[in-house]
Amino acid sequence: MLFNLGSVNSVANHFLRALRDPVLQKDRTRFRNNVEKLGEIMAYEISKKLPYEPALVQTPLGKTSSHFLKEKPVLVTVLRAGLPYFNGFQHYFEESDCGFIGAYRKEEDEITIQLDYLATPGLQDRIVILIDPMLATGKSFVRSVEALLKHGKPSHIHIASLIASPQGIQFVADHLKVNYSIWTFAQDETLNQQSYIVPGLGDAGDLCFGEKL
Ligand code: URA
Repeated sequence: MLFNLGSVNSVANHFLRALRDPVLQKDRTRFRNNVEKLGEIMAYEISKKLPYEPALVQTPLGKTSSHFLKEKPVLVTVLRAGLPYFNGFQHYFEESDCGFIGAYRKEEDEITIQLDYLATPGLQDRIVILIDPMLATGKSFVRSVEALLKHGKPSHIHIASLIASPQGIQFVADHLKVNYSIWTFAQDETLNQQSYIVPGLGDAGDLCFGEKL
C-alpha cells in the first residue's frame, strides 16, 4: 500500500517545496525545522490508520468519551538523516518506545548498505514506524527491516519517507515479506548515477547537519 500525501493539496507541499529550494537549503536550521514539521504531519496522517479503542474522559464539569490509541507504535529511525524527521514523529507519539539504526551507503561497484548499530525494543506483534527521509534505492529500508526482524516480527511496518523513487518503491515491494505500507510526500521521477533521487532535494543528511567526509 502506497500513501502519497503530496497527491492531496495541503500546506505540506509548501514545506516540501522549501526543502527542495537550493537557496533556502542554505539555512540549515530552517531546513531541519521544515523536515520536523513534515514529520509531525506524517505522524498525524499515519495515526489515522492505527487501531483505537473507546474510553471515557473525565473533565472538571462532566464526562465524555472518545477513542484513543490501543497501542503506541514503535518509532525507529535511521541515523543520521532520519533524526529531524523522527523528532517530528516523537512530538505526536510522545510515549512511544524508540529504536535507532546506524546505516550508511558503501559505494563500490554497486551500492551496498553497511549497518553497524542497532538499538531497538522488542518488536514482536507491534506496529513499527520506520523513519528515513529518502526512499531512494530502497536498500537501506530493506536492510533495516531485515535487522529489525531479529528482534521480533512486527504486525505492521509503516515506512515513512519524505520523497520516494519508483525504483525504491519497487525494491521494497520485491524484498519485504512483512505487512507494510509506504508513506511519502512525493514520488519523484528517478535516480541518478549516484542513486540520488531526481529531482529530490540532494543529500538530506548533509543539508541537516553539514557535509560528511
Ligand atoms: N539519500 C539522500 O539524502 N538523498 C537522496 O536523494 C538519496 C539518498
